[in-house]
Amino acid sequence: MEKRGNKVVKLDIPELVELLNKALADEWLAYYQYWVGSKIVKGLMKDAVVAELIEHANDELRHADMLVGRIMQLDGTPVLDPNDWPKLTNCGYEVPSDPAVKAILAQNIKGEQCAIGVYEKLVNLTKDKDPITYQMVLEIMKDEIEHEDDLQALLEDLE
Ligand code: FE
Ligand code: FE
Ligand code: MG
Repeated sequence: MEKRGNKVVKLDIPELVELLNKALADEWLAYYQYWVGSKIVKGLMKDAVVAELIEHANDELRHADMLVGRIMQLDGTPVLDPNDWPKLTNCGYEVPSDPAVKAILAQNIKGEQCAIGVYEKLVNLTKDKDPITYQMVLEIMKDEIEHEDDLQALLEDLE
C-alpha cells in the first residue's frame, strides 16, 4: 500500500535504502568488534575498558535496530545475509588479533572516526530532504562522536 509518509522524502528512496543498508552492515561489524574485543582485551584498566566496550557494543546494536526500523518504513529490505556485511561495509572490520588494551582502543577509535564520516554524509544528504532519517542519523552521529571521545579519554588515561 502506498504510504503518504514516504512522500515526505525528497530523495531517491531505493538509493537512500542502499546507504542505510551499508550503515547497517557497519553497525553489525562494529557491534561484533566491540563485543569480541570486550571478551579478549588484556592489560591495564581492563575493567574500565571492558565496561566501555560493552556499552558501545550495545549502542551499535541499538543503531542497527534504528536503521532497520527506518528501512522498513521506507519499504526497503534490510540486509538479510551476514555474508553481505563485508561487501556493503564502509568502515570494514579490524580483527582484534592483539588483545592489548591500547591496540583494541586504537582499532575502535579508527572505526568510530570512519563511522562519524559515514553519518556526517548521511546528515548532509538528508538535511531538508528527509526530516525523519535526518533526525535519526543525527542522533546516531552524536553517539559515534561520544564513542570516539570516550575511547580517546581512556587511551589518554593509559598514557
Ligand atoms: Fe553505531
Ligand atoms: Fe560507535
Ligand atoms: Mg561510552
